[in-house]
Amino acid sequence: MKSLPRTVKQIIEPSPVTEGAGVRLKRSIGTQSLDYLDPFLLLDHFASTDPRDYKAGFPLHPHRGIETVTYLLSGAVNHKDTLGNSGTIAAGDVQWMTAGRGIMHEEMPQVRPEGIAGFQLWVNLPAKLKMTEPRYQNIAASEIPVIKKENGVTIRVITGEVDGTRGPVSGIAIAPIYVDVWVPAETSFVQALDPAHTAFAYVFEGRARFSAGEKEEKKLIDHPRLLVFGAGDSINVMTADSPVRFLLVSGKPLDEPVARYGPFVMNTKQEIEQALVDLQRGTFVR
Ligand code: MN
Repeated sequence: MKSLPRTVKQIIEPSPVTEGAGVRLKRSIGTQSLDYLDPFLLLDHFASTDPRDYKAGFPLHPHRGIETVTYLLSGAVNHKDTLGNSGTIAAGDVQWMTAGRGIMHEEMPQVRPEGIAGFQLWVNLPAKLKMTEPRYQNIAASEIPVIKKENGVTIRVITGEVDGTRGPVSGIAIAPIYVDVWVPAETSFVQALDPAHTAFAYVFEGRARFSAGEKEEKKLIDHPRLLVFGAGDSINVMTADSPVRFLLVSGKPLDEPVARYGPFVMNTKQEIEQALVDLQRGTFVR
């Protein structure tokens, strides 16, 4: 069967946002220009060496009906929830947290000389799993397999399967791929992706040409940009005189109604109201 490369459907320049108790970050999903990229609800990129941009952190707050995926490139984030879970997410680590019926937690970046850099992605849960038991997958950097291809392309596989290598995060409803890809200068990279999946790349270092359509072919896309891919079964990337580094993420769309209110994402307005009632009554976390 002939391969159909996915072209770039949309290019999003991340918007500056202040979130939590005053954390400055760049948001590219969950904005006016891209409200929902089914099944992805939000993508935040934080990167600063100035403690004033991040030290206030994200004090105690709830989540219901979603998964939050934190991937750190540098620095450290301490987390703690009211169920008694706690720990530190360090450079290169991933936390894939399934909030399900509800968690209350804090996420506090630590002030360090190297500052903080990383991402948080919100993944929607299907209706049948929105009230599932909360679950954490805390993955240390050393547990994440790294593929080094002959041409120098380097891929950290967080979840999904790439070239026969499976990432450690498992049992996720949307059957995602989440990989961190580095492509050296003057090099090409092709990755097969399930044609039924939504897919995006988030370019955060360098520049490259992505998935050549007639027009896109010539255009180098510089960081930071979110690229949403159209229909097809693969993406291809070609660098010029500098390398590129990007997240490549795909997942099965849910195609279900979305009722969204801050950290709660359910299917109906009534379910959102129930979440607020549970919070007031102190029955949110069980
Ligand atoms: Mn949170």
